[in-house]
Amino acid sequence: MANFNTHLFIATTAGVGAALVAANVHLIAYRDMPWLIFLGTLGGLLPDIDASNSRPVKLLFNVLAFMGIATMLHKFKDSYPPYPLLLMLAGTYLFIRYAMFALFNALTVHRGVFHSLLAALFFALLMTCISSRFLHWDALHAWLNGIFVGLGFIVHLVLDELYSVDLSNSRIKSSFGTALKLFNYSNMTASALMTICTMTLYWMAPSPMPLVKVWEGVQWDNYLTPVSFLKAYPWPSELISAAKPDKSLNCK
Ligand SMILES: [Zn+2]
Repeated sequence: MANFNTHLFIATTAGVGAALVAANVHLIAYRDMPWLIFLGTLGGLLPDIDASNSRPVKLLFNVLAFMGIATMLHKFKDSYPPYPLLLMLAGTYLFIRYAMFALFNALTVHRGVFHSLLAALFFALLMTCISSRFLHWDALHAWLNGIFVGLGFIVHLVLDELYSVDLSNSRIKSSFGTALKLFNYSNMTASALMTICTMTLYWMAPSPMPLVKVWEGVQWDNYLTPVSFLKAYPWPSELISAAKPDKSLNCK
C-alpha cells in the first residue's frame, strides 16, 4: 500500500486537477477551489481510518475529542465550579481519544468495509448531509462538497490497488483486490450495516436537482482552458524572456 505522504500528495494533486477542470467548465466558481481541494485531500486520507496505527485515525479521534470538550464546555460551563468542570473535560478527552478509539479499533479491521467503493459513497453522502444540515450550505454546494470527498476517497483506493502490482517483478502482491472493492465480501454484516447507513444518508440529503441542472449546462469542451486568474499572471517563460537583457542595446 501507498504510505501517508504518497496518499496526501496524490489526493491533493487529484483535487487540484478536478477543481481546475470544474472551474474551467464553470461547474464551480474560482473562489470554491481551495475548499474543494481541501475536501478532496481529506477524502484521500479517509479510507485508512480503519488502520489502528494510521495518522488519519489518530487525528480524527483527537479532533472528535476536542469537539467533545467544546460541547461539554458549552453545555456545563455555568452549572459546575471550575475544578469539577476541568475533571469532566479531562474525562471527556480520555474517553473519546482512548476508550472510543480502542472500541473502534476492536470493531474494524484494516481494509475492511471502510476501504471500499460503498464507503466512498457513504462518506460522500455524509459530507453532503453535514454541509446541508449542519453547515447550512445550499444544495448545489453541499453536493459538490460530497463529490470532492468521494473523489479523493476513490483516488486513494485506486492508488492502493496500483501499489499491489509489482511492475518491476511483473508479479501481483497478495494485497491485490483488497483495496478497490465494491464492499467487504468477507464481512456481510458490516457491509449490510453500511448499506443501510448510506441509504439513510441519501434519504436525508438535499435534492440533487440543482447539481443536475448545473451539470447539464456544463461546457465540457472548455475543460482545458486555463482559468482566467492564471491568465492574469505571466507564465515562467514570459518572465525569463522579460528578464533577458535586450542585445540591441549592447554597444562596444
Ligand atoms: Zn489505504
